[in-house]
Amino acid sequence: MAIDKAYRWRLLAERLQRRYSSSRYPAWRRGGGILNRIRSYHRKVRNILEEWARNVSLKIVGLSLRLGYAVARENLTGLIKALRKMPKDHRTKLIIMGYSRLGRWIDWQAMKHGAPIVIVDPRGTSSECPNCDSKLEENGYRRLRCPSCGFEADRDIVGKLNTRKRALEILGIKADFGELRTLQMTDVNPNRCGESMKRSEARGFDDDLRSPRPLRAGGGQLYYKN
Ligand SMILES: [Zn+2]
Repeated sequence: MAIDKAYRWRLLAERLQRRYSSSRYPAWRRGGGILNRIRSYHRKVRNILEEWARNVSLKIVGLSLRLGYAVARENLTGLIKALRKMPKDHRTKLIIMGYSRLGRWIDWQAMKHGAPIVIVDPRGTSSECPNCDSKLEENGYRRLRCPSCGFEADRDIVGKLNTRKRALEILGIKADFGELRTLQMTDVNPNRCGESMKRSEARGFDDDLRSPRPLRAGGGQLYYKN
């Protein structure tokens, strides 16, 4: 939803820009007002994405602190490289922009509030079996199945389980398959675009970035392996 909203503003800005730069557009109408309007549309796009990323990151870090879990996320560097090659007005570009902001916000909130944060290599996270590392096969719409051990799940779940598995490896914690099942049932799904957090849920978290305070002693630890 946030992405759709941002995308609408982006389209408005692009349309205005095109009209403004066309030679048919009478010179007398090319005032500074239109340029300012285009700029304000672009600002709006950035603000919507920023607000979304801030809310979702707070939700994730808040949950991790309440449950005593570490936060794991994929390294998005590859995704951001792909982004540079995309046309400016592409919707996917906005989605990737949203995720890269989300990544930065999650790291920041985790460090600030003292949750351990682990960044994992994203290669193969949605194609390898989280149970036995075999290559998964397609099995219906968004479903993947392992030909060697029979594990089967939605591809989003597979991605999360692998991210979790890699994070546990980096932390030096052993996971077993019994845990995988319970995780599927209670799995939170924070990486859907457009989920936002109610003000009341955010209570107790000081997220005022206008006056960032130094990180608490013994604050979040960043784990990172390349
Ligand atoms: Zn398997």
